[in-house]
Amino acid sequence: MREVAIAPVPLDRLGALLDPQRAQRLAGAADRARSLFAGRTLWNVNATATGGGVAEMLLALLAYSRGAGVDARWLVLDADPEFFAITKRLHNVLHGSPGDGGPLGPAEAAHYREALAHNAESLRALVRPGDFVLLHDPQTAGLVPAAREARAACVIWRCHIGRDEQDDLTRSGWEFLRPHLGDVDALVFSRRQYAPDWVPAERLAVIPPSLDPFTAKNAELSPADVDAALRRAALVLAPKDHGSLRFRRRDGSWGTVRPHRDLTLDTGPVDAESRLVLQISRWDHLKDMGGVLRAFADHLPDLPRDTHLVLAGPDVTGVGDDPEGAQVLAECRAQWGCLPAEARRRAHLVCLPMDDIDENAHLVNALQRRAAVVVQKSLVEGFGLTVTEPMWKARPVVASAVGGINDQVVHGRSGLLVRDPTDLDAFAAAVRDLLVDEEYARRLGTGARERVRDLFLGDRHLVQYGDLFERL
Ligand code: UDP
Repeated sequence: MREVAIAPVPLDRLGALLDPQRAQRLAGAADRARSLFAGRTLWNVNATATGGGVAEMLLALLAYSRGAGVDARWLVLDADPEFFAITKRLHNVLHGSPGDGGPLGPAEAAHYREALAHNAESLRALVRPGDFVLLHDPQTAGLVPAAREARAACVIWRCHIGRDEQDDLTRSGWEFLRPHLGDVDALVFSRRQYAPDWVPAERLAVIPPSLDPFTAKNAELSPADVDAALRRAALVLAPKDHGSLRFRRRDGSWGTVRPHRDLTLDTGPVDAESRLVLQISRWDHLKDMGGVLRAFADHLPDLPRDTHLVLAGPDVTGVGDDPEGAQVLAECRAQWGCLPAEARRRAHLVCLPMDDIDENAHLVNALQRRAAVVVQKSLVEGFGLTVTEPMWKARPVVASAVGGINDQVVHGRSGLLVRDPTDLDAFAAAVRDLLVDEEYARRLGTGARERVRDLFLGDRHLVQYGDLFERL
């Protein structure tokens, strides 16, 4: 296992955004956490330090925890490609999708245990009696016994994925995980509906995700800074201006956007005058990048002529726990290649570099701020930080009414929801409505920012964690 270094961030920074009552509640939770964790470490374990919503949240929440005086630490497990193929399958079935269709039988269970054995050994060596261990997602469920053997005071497993309705596929995934989870003190889910029915009520906690307004992903940027970043990265042909290319790294130092040439695959940069419809996601079938491309191409005549589509995801060699990425990207490229010329001219596939995750975050930030409409046409979605992030930036969003997106977007107030995620006509119509009525789009953007401020900032998340730790 590898430890991810986390620079502490003072809680006051977050407190400055909150009304006095909320700031006080946060400060009170920090005081209690400090005394609870005196002499203890809070170990977090997950499968990747980059790419995806869990890494994004750990980065921010652990920095605030350390800033509050809690020794919160982050370990990333290490395993072979076969392990990640199995856990990706598990990820898919827990979402009700067959994924690669492979089995989750005794051979896979044996490999899962074996691949985790040396991680378990590292964990046993690190955890001291009385520490807390917080394991994230299916990849880490097999580490529960090791945390117990190390005599951790509390072992918690948090699942960031799930699906509202259970079916045979989701049940097969839960049956795979269940033997590992008998001995945890609490199971945390993003929505109550995600918990399988065998989780006892007294051990169930519901904590939705949150975002951090101060990371490179979400920090304020002026329109000139947005243009400068996108021009330097050759994503948009923005006019030369005085915008800054700098961004704040997670360790507090400053970075500068590097010149890039080939981030847009097959097409060049987007014209300066174009309005962007943007989806940013991992290249994963359940995010349905292909469906967005099809909806855009099929409805091109209905959309204003200055509309361009950008489908952006991580460089597929850079997300270690996601073996499907390269395949999904290849499928999207093939699909793009078969489109009529005008659709090809106006649809852009973008791979964002992952060798510098702070720069990656800054480019995501700039793209989200530059977008006229941000979409998230997921077929299933645990929560969807890719919805929360543009909402915080007051962007109008169009998203499928699935999973945690339903908790975020109030239809007609803080964005538009599309009931059936496979309904391409309804999806394209919603996007069009926002492009042709800019006042409506602005109103939804304002509502979106308020919704995130009320419900999805880190203070609420930290207070809920604090309450759970105290209760345990
Ligand atoms: N993301 C990123 N770079 C990319 C693509 C995605 O940083 O090239 C981030 C995105 O901004 C968000 C996270 O990955 O913070 C995705 O989280 P979400 O909850 O939407 O979905 P997940 O990937 O966890 O299923």
